[in-house]
Amino acid sequence: MQKEVVLSGIRPTGFLHLGNYFGAMRNYVRMQDEYNCYFFVADWHSLTTHPDTKALKTSVHRVIAENIACGLDPQKVSLYVQSDVPEIAELYLYLNTLAYKGELEKVPTFKDKVRLQPDNVNAGLLTYPVLMAADILIHRAVKVPVGKDQEQHLEMARNFADRFNHRYGEVFPQPRAFNFSKELVKILSLDGNGKMSKSENQMATIYLSDEGELVKKKIMKAKTDGGPAEDNAEKPDYIQNLFTLMSLVSSDDVVKKFEVDYSQCNIRYGDLKKQLAEDMAVFLKPIREKATAIQNDNAYLQKIMREGAEKARASARATINIVRESMGVKY
Ligand code: ATP
Ligand code: MG
Repeated sequence: MQKEVVLSGIRPTGFLHLGNYFGAMRNYVRMQDEYNCYFFVADWHSLTTHPDTKALKTSVHRVIAENIACGLDPQKVSLYVQSDVPEIAELYLYLNTLAYKGELEKVPTFKDKVRLQPDNVNAGLLTYPVLMAADILIHRAVKVPVGKDQEQHLEMARNFADRFNHRYGEVFPQPRAFNFSKELVKILSLDGNGKMSKSENQMATIYLSDEGELVKKKIMKAKTDGGPAEDNAEKPDYIQNLFTLMSLVSSDDVVKKFEVDYSQCNIRYGDLKKQLAEDMAVFLKPIREKATAIQNDNAYLQKIMREGAEKARASARATINIVRESMGVKY
């Protein structure tokens, strides 16, 4: 039986952090045997919010290196850079004729971006969901591992696919959100403000590239409070976040000990943070070292990107041929 096609992308807007790892990459690694996976570095998408391209090359290389360091096997998956596959831009152009200004202007992430960067409300921001649809449909992917914030974009991708099929004939299957593991992990920023993110408060974000000392410094500064006021109290989300991180990198006994301390109002956040920092540093070290080694091996990186692009283009070309055929853009 043919494996189902899975597609996901990460923007090269900075170094990857624990949220990217536990919320996305760890799941990619688990999917690579069962599915036909396309994972890409979304460099075109980053231009809509990060027009300064000085750091782009380093970021693209780093994302590739970190993905491999985290366990993605470029032999098993297609790991490629978006701009190496021009067929995506062609499909984006066709889909743009099926997307309407009104519906694009209503997208919450577009409204957010307008608020965040009022001086740069470029058309790329407006058509972000169209490019995302092209990313998915170019491989006729059916499973898209995305976070909650992307569900509406995915619905739009389904709409564009439907409109295309309706107008030009059945070409695209319906892409659906896909959570490989039941619980979707969301890692909060250590300052308690929203989710951990590449482009926000760097001292409250733990990057996969952070060395032990820096990890410790950040964790020791994480937001806490005076402790629970009564036995078995519910945890505020910034405390829960520390426990979540601990459950991801520490041993079960360690987690249990602090859980019991918390439920009995004996918790010492200083001790919890110290332990978490230690275990986190141990967890990150091999990933960081491997990623750095790959990043410094330009010949290997070039080979990976070239091979990834070839695999992705083979699939993309097949789709574009069918698309052109069904649209009558073939003379
Ligand atoms: P930016 O701040 O530039 O938007 P980001 O950190 O949000 O960067 P993205 O490239 O937008 O990262 O997202 C890559 C993947 O990581 C997506 O699948 C997204 O759902 C996931 N992800 C990002 N941040 C978190 C987080 N804090 N917790 C869990 N998953 C996350
Ligand atoms: Mg994001």
